[in-house]
Amino acid sequence: MKGTKMGRNKQAVNHRPTHDTEREFGGTLGAVCIPVFLPLTVLFLIGVSQSPEASVFQWPPKLPSTDQLWDPLAPMLLLGWIGLHALLYFMPFGKVSEGLALRDGTRLKYPINGFHSLCVSAVLLMVLLGLRAPLGFLFELLVPLAVSAIAVSFLFSIYLYVRSFLVPSHALALGGDTGNPLYDFFIGRELNPRIGNFDLKYFCELRPGLIGWVVINLGMLMKEVELRGSPSLSMILVNCFQLLYVADALWNEEAVLTTMDIVHDGFGFMLVFGDLAWVPFTYSLQASFLVVHPQTLSLLKAAVIVALNGVGYYIFRKSNSQKNQFRRDPTHPSVSGLETIATATGKRLLVSGWWGLVRHPNYLGDLLMALAWSLPCGFSHLLPYFYVIYFTILLIHREARDERQCKAKYGLAWDTYCRRVPYRIFPYIY
Ligand code: NDP
Repeated sequence: MKGTKMGRNKQAVNHRPTHDTEREFGGTLGAVCIPVFLPLTVLFLIGVSQSPEASVFQWPPKLPSTDQLWDPLAPMLLLGWIGLHALLYFMPFGKVSEGLALRDGTRLKYPINGFHSLCVSAVLLMVLLGLRAPLGFLFELLVPLAVSAIAVSFLFSIYLYVRSFLVPSHALALGGDTGNPLYDFFIGRELNPRIGNFDLKYFCELRPGLIGWVVINLGMLMKEVELRGSPSLSMILVNCFQLLYVADALWNEEAVLTTMDIVHDGFGFMLVFGDLAWVPFTYSLQASFLVVHPQTLSLLKAAVIVALNGVGYYIFRKSNSQKNQFRRDPTHPSVSGLETIATATGKRLLVSGWWGLVRHPNYLGDLLMALAWSLPCGFSHLLPYFYVIYFTILLIHREARDERQCKAKYGLAWDTYCRRVPYRIFPYIY
């Protein structure tokens, strides 16, 4: 068994995706176009969400004017925020966990204190609110903040690309060392870049951007209070749903250590921009939309939306926890009774329970929640549905990537699993 595994690893180490067809996200073309197109999309969407028409079909697309792009306060706030979270990373709270074994056999250690960082951030925000700090000003500052986050993403990715030439080859991501500088810059060369004990990828995954997202939401709520005296039910729902999602991610921070992002993907522009710019500034679009486009929501509709979010959250949490528990300890009573199939790697695959319903029950739950976040914004505009549309595309693409990796890892056993559980995300549909 060991020999087979080592053989597989050796093969993988030697395998560099040298052809564009083997590369992800459209290869070189994607690596050139995405870093131009996505930052412009962020600025466009913020502009649309704050405009009275809020039309995504406006042609030519309305981008913010140059004088709206810059405010010296924005980079100061952004860098201060990232610096604060870097300090909180070293707080001596929470446990220290080990990641999966790397190709050289070692395991990295990670502080599990993201939830503590969220709590400290919440206390600081409460203090600021108590001091009557104008948090609603984040609404005016959104575009300059997004511009700063985009600039930081580019500069940081250049740093990551350059430093990746100083590390040994076993520290590089398997798919990120193609020799094509544009693609490698985009997809990420180094797997786990660290400065001392500070893990740059792990830090960015769940902290400044994710917590920043709910802070922006709070800023939008405070803007509504400034404009209309009190927050609307729609705004409260959007804030609560998304806070629950972020708090859940940080409460279960350890689970990120086994995700594709940490285990497989290099740290380059794709993840940096996603973590620091895309997530906080596009996931908060519903809240910024509601500031300019207030909605009335009946209690009955609100109850239906809360129930939808609850069902989505239940499926999402239960399925993720089931798999994490199974991977950590397959003999645990909560998973030991489930039906599984053996694979040549020694690991087993669940074929009953949540993972017997569809091959990605966690994506199904996530998508139901995404829909629940859009519904409080009514049906008059498409923009608030941007997240659920984009997220469906992202998860379908992510599912295909994961499927390819699982097929490569588990071979025939994966085929058997696919026959036993034919649907990928939506039962009887897809
Ligand atoms: P998943 O948690 O879905 O993990 C996929 C891995 O699980 C596979 O590679 C395989 O790894 C293992 N696996 C697959 N099928 C089985 C099975 N039947 N039995 C046991 N193990 C199995 O990966 P993601 O990182 O994509 O998603 C994690 C969560 O994050 C999801 O809930 C997703 O919705 C969410 N997410 C949210 C995003 C956002 O922007 N809001 C973005 C991306 C993800 P192995 O066998 O090696 O353990």
